[in-house]
Amino acid sequence: MNSSYDICFVASEMYPFSKTGGLADVIGILPLTLHNLGYKVCVITPLYGRLATSEFSPHLAYEDINVGYPWPEISADVYRASYYGLPVYFIDRGEYFDRRYYYNTHKGDYFDNCERFIFFCRAAMALMKKMGSPPKIVHSHDWHAALVNSFIHYNKRHDSFWADTSTMFTIHNLAFQGRFSVRLFWDSGLPYEAWTMNGVEYYDSFNLLKGGITHADLVTTVSPSYAREILTTEFGCGLEGILKTRSTDLTGILNGADYSVWNPANDKYLEENYSLDNPQGKIVCKKNLIEILRLPPRLMDRPILGFIGRLRSQKGIDLLLEIIPDLVDKDVGVVVLGEGGAEYEAQLLNMVELYPHHISGVVGYTEEMAHKIQAGADIFLMPSRYEPCGLTQMYSLRYGTPPIATAVGGLKDTIVPFPDEKSTGFIFENPTSSNLFRTLEDALVLFKDKEEWKKLQTRGMKADFSWNRSAEMYIKAYQSLGYQQIDDTKDPKIVSDVI
Ligand code: ADP
Repeated sequence: MNSSYDICFVASEMYPFSKTGGLADVIGILPLTLHNLGYKVCVITPLYGRLATSEFSPHLAYEDINVGYPWPEISADVYRASYYGLPVYFIDRGEYFDRRYYYNTHKGDYFDNCERFIFFCRAAMALMKKMGSPPKIVHSHDWHAALVNSFIHYNKRHDSFWADTSTMFTIHNLAFQGRFSVRLFWDSGLPYEAWTMNGVEYYDSFNLLKGGITHADLVTTVSPSYAREILTTEFGCGLEGILKTRSTDLTGILNGADYSVWNPANDKYLEENYSLDNPQGKIVCKKNLIEILRLPPRLMDRPILGFIGRLRSQKGIDLLLEIIPDLVDKDVGVVVLGEGGAEYEAQLLNMVELYPHHISGVVGYTEEMAHKIQAGADIFLMPSRYEPCGLTQMYSLRYGTPPIATAVGGLKDTIVPFPDEKSTGFIFENPTSSNLFRTLEDALVLFKDKEEWKKLQTRGMKADFSWNRSAEMYIKAYQSLGYQQIDDTKDPKIVSDVI
């Protein structure tokens, strides 16, 4: 079968098939947007055991593609689905991907994560070769897919298939690097010369993400502010030095929001849909949220604060937990959805037990609840210590739930802070619990002024972070690598000549 693509995305998650966070949301919409604009794009991703496949039923496309890692004869099967016309290829190797979780259990990371994702990268490359003509751009994401850049970089020298392929690597979160023992480097298939400070070596460990940074032709991250921040010691996670060496090839492209999924006007999970022209549904959603979380009905007349995210210090969940007694004193409701750090989960459940009339916590991962909180809460909390882009604040703006966030990364780039005639939310410097509380007090004062609050909500609901704008910027980035789209609908012969 010859199915060639100009742009191949390689990523470990894609909504709606798999998701642990924002990466999945981006892969669920950016390639589809490019596809809809007429680009020849595909996505390559693992076939996890928890794959949500029912609607898009993948079928076997290639059987037994030789991957050659971690032993010579090992192979992968590849399934293919059409996601609204966008081809999605799933790498299937049961012992690597058919697991309850993607990367870790509560006890820690899977011991063979390095092997799993080297296998994934090599399988993705074997698949690209199998599909026919070489892709013009391979666009990979985060540490799981980073080694694709390293392999292509070195393979170009002896394999003419890759000679004209350019690579782009997008960092969604620099803190997750995929660092492993040097032992795992030796049989990865990378040449010995990759083991340098300018390759994949990082203080004697094998750093997969670093390979993406050093070997991709272009490196992007998910907001302009984060692109600047990661060049500093404070946000660089130890990689600021190597990032500086690539600073001329590093840009920040702000993520967008998928308004076909995150829009209160047609959100399938909501008790009642609503929009700027028809806002009453938000009250119904608040009532519904209070009911399903068994909070007291009198909270209908009080502000409800919502938090959705990984329960990790990155997201500032500890700052929120610290001020919960003060929030209870203020008689506001707090609704938290998240999972992650066991100690934060325990603290959250403890707060729920102490203050059942004000606090509700859902520990776990549920897409439906995330939508219900966006719609039913009055104020959205995002006190992150760092935030590469952040998507939930963009969603909350669209849901008329103004965010309170720290002045970092994409939060700075997407929220216009109060007070300002264009303000859409609240921003505070320095992530401390007292700064969060002070900012919340400002928000609660404004919340009482129904007219002003409505204006704030309206500006947020009108803010437009649709993907077309971001996709245009990605197209420009591909073009900077020499990529030109060819319209093969007019004369297929010319295209095959060029390829
Ligand atoms: P990150 O990528 O750092 O996790 P983002 O704000 O970019 O943060 O994206 C988070 C995405 O994951 C959003 O779609 C959010 O709704 C979703 N999400 C996070 N935690 C949960 C959870 N516990 N249950 C359901 N969805 C969640």
